Amino acid sequence: MTLQIKKIAFIGTGIMGAPIAGHILDAGYDVTVYNRTREKAEGLLAKGAHWADSPAEAAADADVVFTMVGYPTDVEDVYLATDGLIRTAKKGAWLIDLTTSSPQLARDIHDAAEVEDKHAFDCPVTGGEQGAVDGTLTLIMGISEQEAAPVLPVLETFSAKRFFFDVPGGGQTAKLCNQVSLASCMVGYADAIALAEQSGIDVERVLEVMASGTGGSGASKTLAPKSLAGDYKPGFMAEHLRKDIALALQRSEDLDITLPGAETAFTLFDMLCQIGGSRMGTQALTLLYQEEATCAAAGLDWSLLDQGEDDDHECHCGHDHAADHECCGGHHHDHGDDHECHCHHHDH
Ligand code: NAP
Repeated sequence: MTLQIKKIAFIGTGIMGAPIAGHILDAGYDVTVYNRTREKAEGLLAKGAHWADSPAEAAADADVVFTMVGYPTDVEDVYLATDGLIRTAKKGAWLIDLTTSSPQLARDIHDAAEVEDKHAFDCPVTGGEQGAVDGTLTLIMGISEQEAAPVLPVLETFSAKRFFFDVPGGGQTAKLCNQVSLASCMVGYADAIALAEQSGIDVERVLEVMASGTGGSGASKTLAPKSLAGDYKPGFMAEHLRKDIALALQRSEDLDITLPGAETAFTLFDMLCQIGGSRMGTQALTLLYQEEATCAAAGLDWSLLDQGEDDDHECHCGHDHAADHECCGGHHHDHGDDHECHCHHHDH
């Protein structure tokens, strides 16, 4: 049975969610939005979106519900809480998570939705803020093309490419592969800039050399110029890349493999976040190679490094921890007895 898709709910209208929801609205769908901070949805409301006071209210009569929140814990709340989407969305609805989140959580949500006669799949994106604004994102989907057919017209309103990984969680796993490669590319260009600067040669020309050979990357092409210009506005926040690397490292532990590039990148991005750069763009990584005064001028404070480890441990998975804290890159259920923290940055 094909569902006539008219009503869309969109939860999470931040850097990525707001422009994506804007494209869906522009395509003529009836869009209801909810965001934790209402003011970030004002632009969409001015364009004709409706406001809802909760995810449940937004989803009540929606044919398709999109979520684009920050962390796996946010995803878990929105879907699996007692008033979450799994219970409150209508039967037959499609629940599509665009957040970069945990593959296991995506499987849990898929299975829980199936029991309730709803369709849920993971659909993380790549292409950055610019891709979201331009409506040219790449979608990385944990579903087959055939199964996703009913919702493809909506997805096409904000994407240029779609990859199907066929199984629940497959999209998130593929996205994490992309993120570990991205993280190492960023460390690569940050190293190159430091070496060029300290050697006293023309850094911009070095970036041109990299771009014309195989030493360059998408990251060095789009982000290195921002690093050099001292433009640290996000884009893509450092704390979100740290979350992604933590999720990949968690997965690598499950698989009993080592990802040395990701380990190094985690150490560096974690350091950046600890000293005040968590909500800067990822390109602020290059500040770690600079003099302390330059870092201070950009708003970083090295004295914060390693503070708060004892009493006030933060694992950066994006949720407040109670006494029974289990850190896990933001996915805090279903751990066995031997669960260890996977935030990879210190002893707890
Ligand atoms: P963002 O600007 O922080 O957007 C997330 C939005 O979700 C925020 O507006 C936040 O509310 C809202 N939110 C969080 N929890 C919520 C909840 N329980 N209920 C309702 N709203 C909630 O981050 P972003 O850059 O758009 O990134 C979103 C996700 O996409 C992340 O997982 C990120 O890793 C991924 N991603 C980002 C990029 C990029 O280039 N930015 C690219 C690809 C993927 P508040 O406004 O109150 O904070």
